[in-house]
Amino acid sequence: MSTKSFLAKILLCTLVWGGNLFISQAQDIAYAKEVVKTLASPAFKGRGYVGGGDQIASAYIARAFKKSGLAPLNAGSYFQDFKLAVNTFPGKVDVKLNGKTLITAKDYLIGATSPAIHGTFKVIPVKRSDINTEEKLMAVIQAATDAFILLDDRIEGPESTAELGSINASIRALKNSEKLNFKGLIVYTKDKLTWTTLTYQTIRPVVTINKADLDPALVNTLTIDVDARFVPEYTTRNVAGMIRGSSGSDSTIVISAHFDHLGMLGNKVYFPGANDNASGVAMLLSFVKYYAKNKPKYNTVFLAFSGEEIGILGSKAFVENPLINLKKIKFLVNFDLAGTGEEGIKVVNGTVYKKEFDRLVDLNSAFKLVPKVEIRGEACKSDHCRFYEKGVPSFFIYTQGGIAAYHDIYDRAETLPLTEFEHYFELMVKFFGTI
Ligand SMILES: [Zn+2]
Repeated sequence: MSTKSFLAKILLCTLVWGGNLFISQAQDIAYAKEVVKTLASPAFKGRGYVGGGDQIASAYIARAFKKSGLAPLNAGSYFQDFKLAVNTFPGKVDVKLNGKTLITAKDYLIGATSPAIHGTFKVIPVKRSDINTEEKLMAVIQAATDAFILLDDRIEGPESTAELGSINASIRALKNSEKLNFKGLIVYTKDKLTWTTLTYQTIRPVVTINKADLDPALVNTLTIDVDARFVPEYTTRNVAGMIRGSSGSDSTIVISAHFDHLGMLGNKVYFPGANDNASGVAMLLSFVKYYAKNKPKYNTVFLAFSGEEIGILGSKAFVENPLINLKKIKFLVNFDLAGTGEEGIKVVNGTVYKKEFDRLVDLNSAFKLVPKVEIRGEACKSDHCRFYEKGVPSFFIYTQGGIAAYHDIYDRAETLPLTEFEHYFELMVKFFGTI
């Protein structure tokens, strides 16, 4: 943003809101930045299930709830425990090709469902055209009993729909089939490396490599040292608190955001998750502070979920054991990815709750806040979904544009712009005010 347009914005904000409110918003952005920086710091271990990252993050959020005087929702506690299964990488994660060390999460990723594996193995490089029929796939497997197969996954030339289908089936079998006998799979790709976490472990390790200066055809050995531990029952927790409304109504507004992220890949590398979703928690905690000082009309419940990245499990646990009457929820807004906004915001369920969506658009036009408010239909991609499935009117809103880091080690606080955060926050204050 240029200095000129920044000054114009200050002038506009001052005219619309008056000077004092602008100053209070300026304080909010400092707080939001501090929240994102803290949650995305190494001490929070990527807010996953290695080293208790989820426990550290949930304790931090509960402290913020307490500081603002929120009422705990679970019999005097802010926490709601629930269990999930997770495959974790708590120890060593080291990979060498032809004796040369690769950099974890920059050059390669270990598949989220991989088991532990240690040793040096022969590598057999193949191309997509080498596995485009079942017969060819079987020939490759037979030669690889004690070896890793390295699939060069770059498209060589035009592939017919039938050929593409057959290659995809071969890749699925190489990754998951318990009937095939070989050591493991390496996939060489030009696609961005994007990690995830999953609730199960598969039969063999998968290593995905994206390294420009590597010729996959020349790889002949893999030295791999990966500690993996499948935890069938990990106890994690949601955080839940409430501010009582001034109207005396028993209707509830819910503001939610997941605090978990992907955790650690080995004991050295963590996924900071600044945009996903330290930024959404910063939005939630900004509302906690705001409504602690400016009493809302309706009871306002704040839900910070764990287990989102692994299958939207925290909100699932909540709706299965609700700490509030779901029927009394007037509206729920879930914040997930709130850290950019160069291209405005997108509203999932906008087409479903069109009246509320139109009001959001009108408020944005009247007060000239974010660049765009775009509509989207249903999408079961975040925590709002579990509530929506139970009939709770709800939006999931995310910011668009700006930095594209996502589910990788580059989603860091240092590079997250929070471009439209203050305007986004102001818009949502207005929106909640009109419900
Ligand atoms: Zn997310």
